[in-house]
Amino acid sequence: GTFLNRLRNTEPHLKSFLYVSDVVLKEAEEIDRKIAEDEELGPLAGVLVGVKDNICTSDMPSTAGSKILENYRPPFDATAVGKMKKCGAIVIGKTNMDEFGMGSTTEGSGYQVTANPWDLSRVPGGSSGGSAAAVSARQCMVSLGSDTGGSVRQPASFCGVVGLKPTYGRVSRYGLVAYASSLDVIGCFGSSVADAGILLHAISGHDKFDATSSKKEVPDFASQFTARDQLDSKPLKGLRVGLIRETIQDGVDPDVISSIRGAASHLEELGCTVTEVSLPSFSLGLPAYYILASSESSSNLSRYDGIRYGKQVFADELNSLYGESRAGGLGSEVKMRILMGTYALSAGYYDAYYKRAQQVRTLVRESFRTALDENDILISPAAPSAAYKIGEKKNDPLSMYAGDIMTVNVNLAGLPALVLPCGFVDSSSVVLPVGVQMISAAFEEEKLLKVGHIFE
Ligand code: GLN
Repeated sequence: GTFLNRLRNTEPHLKSFLYVSDVVLKEAEEIDRKIAEDEELGPLAGVLVGVKDNICTSDMPSTAGSKILENYRPPFDATAVGKMKKCGAIVIGKTNMDEFGMGSTTEGSGYQVTANPWDLSRVPGGSSGGSAAAVSARQCMVSLGSDTGGSVRQPASFCGVVGLKPTYGRVSRYGLVAYASSLDVIGCFGSSVADAGILLHAISGHDKFDATSSKKEVPDFASQFTARDQLDSKPLKGLRVGLIRETIQDGVDPDVISSIRGAASHLEELGCTVTEVSLPSFSLGLPAYYILASSESSSNLSRYDGIRYGKQVFADELNSLYGESRAGGLGSEVKMRILMGTYALSAGYYDAYYKRAQQVRTLVRESFRTALDENDILISPAAPSAAYKIGEKKNDPLSMYAGDIMTVNVNLAGLPALVLPCGFVDSSSVVLPVGVQMISAAFEEEKLLKVGHIFE
């Protein structure tokens, strides 16, 4: 009731949801009945979850923020959603996003612009801006997002919540609307590290419907959320932390840098040794990411042809049907990415762009491997600035892309990363949250969650 009331009151200002369930109360009553009758309850019983609109839900629309999928209702639940529901979670609604996940502000939604709860004139980040804003404003308890190049971590930083991007393959992508399949992963938002970790546990694991999902055993992430008063004074003694030098240099907001330095000192107080490390290929990640993500998306989005799904414009002949359905159904950012990707993959340019980008991807993976051989975790900002104004970068895609510099390398390497609040950008008129990003080797979410829980 409290959550629904808050949702009702805040939603006209925030617009974080594209769809709100009308059966939440009924589902909650069902949980109450189970409690009364002493039936077994799942680990997420009664937990209200917001689900990003590119994650399929059988009883609600799933549009991925695109007009081309307006009113589309998938006949099935994404594996992650099905697992969560089995644990007793209640899906409260579908959250707003940049169309198909392409964007960093949520302004690229085909439907509405979501506001940042800390300052309604600012963006919540993106593309999972709705999921981040919803948890930040306590419209729901936790939420699911997706992260192809930072779409969970950057909005978590902008909205002052915890965002967790799992290792590629930790969570099944079955039922996640594909953007760039070799980078996409479903991630979690929570107002604490424990909340995000418990949600991750519920959705992780191998799935026969996604051949890229990992068979690795899923540890019980929750077991390490020790009560703070049981910790000794140096609970992270011996942990080697590498602060990525290239992420705290020119072009990054000075308040962001001092927040990250503050986080490093806090880790030292907890017993870690912190040293600066260099990732030489760091700045190459951004252009490589945009080539690879656009290339994969140009292929993935060919399925929206006006026949198989969603919106159809009737025409006299087939090519006009395709053309007109896509022209009217897809937004301008999406069209630009499809053009870029098609160009990069075309015969004459493949070697110069796509192949080069794949080579950079290998370099990035190698440089993380070296840095993570010498360190248990790496830290950096999650974005070069705090949340900016709505409209500020809307007509300047390159400056919006540049804001992804802190996050895209992690996707290229398939690593897990946790973002949690660590400081503020404080100007005369407004105080905005800043998040620190913690990165570990693949499948070491447990370590990240432990450090994050002790840190917060
Ligand atoms: N902002 C990046 C992009 O537009 C990342 C988006 C994402 O992770 N889905 O591609």
